[in-house]
Amino acid sequence: MEPPDKLDKCLAILVLRAVGLHEPPAATKKVLSSQEGVASMLGLGKPKVVATEKWFRGSSYKAAAVECEDEAIKSVTEGLLVDLEGMTAELMKKARQITQKDILRNFRPDYIENNVNFTFRSKLQEHWNNLAIAARGLATNTRLVFNTKGYIMGDITSGYIYTSGVFDSEEQTPLNKVSKTHAMYLLPHLCVEFPEFETIIDWRRLTAQDISERISKGMLDNLNLLSQRTSFLGTCEVCESWK
Ligand SMILES: [Zn+2]
Repeated sequence: MEPPDKLDKCLAILVLRAVGLHEPPAATKKVLSSQEGVASMLGLGKPKVVATEKWFRGSSYKAAAVECEDEAIKSVTEGLLVDLEGMTAELMKKARQITQKDILRNFRPDYIENNVNFTFRSKLQEHWNNLAIAARGLATNTRLVFNTKGYIMGDITSGYIYTSGVFDSEEQTPLNKVSKTHAMYLLPHLCVEFPEFETIIDWRRLTAQDISERISKGMLDNLNLLSQRTSFLGTCEVCESWK
């Protein structure tokens, strides 16, 4: 598979995308590491960023690992990135910390079988299983909101959905209980693969209306997909150090 641009440019995209991807999706960090943010920093169109990630995922693991060796990352960081307009000291500091492992971890679903050391493998799988359970619960609750068009008492991770019943009465249906912490850790993982989830900062703050407006049918399908697949890309604050 041919890279969609010069290799150093592709690598610059991956490094910038990896910066902040493992962090909680606070608004400022998301702007920096979103596909749009990275495209605009590098003066490219977003499709180039999308194509680069696709190319990197589609290459063989060995080829991908060679493309992002630590030396190559260093040369791109100290060459292409350091002089970029909009580059801040804080962002540069983070870019300098990105390693080959970070890039592979963020963009290769087969990272675990190729790299993660044995001690961390079972921990990581357990973490992923918990994220998958949270994804399934959130998908079920989201579908309930879609189907009933009611309003939420509590929030999408717990509580009830109220809908109007007969004679103006209200009927309440309990939502599935979803671990709030796992729902939170799920977000950075989700955003790596499906950037459309970047508009969700905190599941608990979503009203029924937000859910209908911000979660599309396609996003719901992707939540379901991950809950079945039980493997995730990227890292969150829990699994970041497991390499
Ligand atoms: Zn994680």
